[in-house]
Order: sequence, then structure tokens, then C-alpha cells
Amino acid sequence: MKVGVLALQGDVPEHLLALAPLLPKGDLVPTRTPADLARIDALFLPGGESTTIARLLQKAGLWTPIGTRLAKGMPVLATCAGFILLARRLAPSPAGRDPPTYGLVDVTIRRNDYGAQRESFEGPVRVEGLAGGPFPGVFIRAPRVVSVGPEAKPFAWRDREVVGVRQGTIWATTFHPELSGDLRLHRMFLKMVRPRT
Ligand code: GLN
Repeated sequence: MKVGVLALQGDVPEHLLALAPLLPKGDLVPTRTPADLARIDALFLPGGESTTIARLLQKAGLWTPIGTRLAKGMPVLATCAGFILLARRLAPSPAGRDPPTYGLVDVTIRRNDYGAQRESFEGPVRVEGLAGGPFPGVFIRAPRVVSVGPEAKPFAWRDREVVGVRQGTIWATTFHPELSGDLRLHRMFLKMVRPRT
């Protein structure tokens, strides 16, 4: 089973480090090209700058092939900027610039809605189905889920606010599980991944 981490921009090393203890070495594929994408069974979309990642995806010739794999049900764990790129609707962000998105995950989300970098924060997140107590949520210039449509199912909350949704084989969080030192969410996601037949 090969697991990709989109490796164009953002917290790519952190994702690779989080996944390293969970997978045999050769199964982890930093994904930069359509050939890399063709080898993988699941993909992690890291945080970073969604406008930049969108531009680099197009430049790398990955935008359309990833869309095709998403349509075929490739499991994806998307964090923060990665979540933004999958969202069906973006509410206009305070920054005024918004990336194109795959329009898939049935939420309305607003970039940078908690404020600037200095308003980044950490706090406990309740994750459905996760044993061992609250998950340490790391939020960095995070987007806010403004509303959730019927196709997406919330599975993570900070207080009453939705901070993670699942839609089929896509899991998307506004926080960064790869930065918390807690691998429970990665493990839970990987349990769902099967080699493609
Ligand atoms: N603020 C970034 C964006 O809008 C997301 C931040 C992150 O991924 N940590 O793309």
C-alpha cells in the first residue's frame, strides 16, 4: 500500500515525519508529479498556503489528475489549506483572495477566519470514534467551517464548532494532526486505506 503526501508547498516534512513510524519506508511517496500520483493508494494534502498550492498543482500538471482520482474515491486526509482546496463553497475570506477548489466536500469554509498568524492557537478537539480522550488541536491561521451540507459528516469539534468532516473516503480537518505529536488520527485514517486493485 502506497501513501502519498502532496509535496509542493507547506508542512510537507511534518506530514512525512508523522507518517514515517506508521508505514514501511518504501510505502511513503512524496507526491510531486502525475507519475507519483499514479503509484499511490491514498493522499495526504498538507497545510500551507492554499492559493500557492493551487497554483503549483496546476503548474505540476497535477490539478486534473488529482480531481480524477478524487472522483474515483481515493482516500484523502486533508488538513487546513488542503481542506480549503477540497471545499465545495468558499465564503469570501478577509484576505480577499481565494483559490480555485475541487468543490467536493459539502461545506462552506472561510480562509483565515480566526485572524492572522498570531491568532493561531491550540486546544482540545473531540474526535468521534477516537479512543483515549480529546485530541490536541493545532490551529494555524486556520479556516473556519461556516456551514456543513448534507453530504459531509462532522466528526471533530472544538467546543461546539465543527473542525473536521468526513465525506466518503475524504477526511478534512481545519487543524493539523501532523503537528501535535499525536498519531491517533493518522492511524485511524490509514486503517481505511486499501491497495487499489
Ligand atoms: N491560511 C492558509 C490558507 O488560507 C491555511 C493555513 C494552514 O494551512 N495552516 O491557505
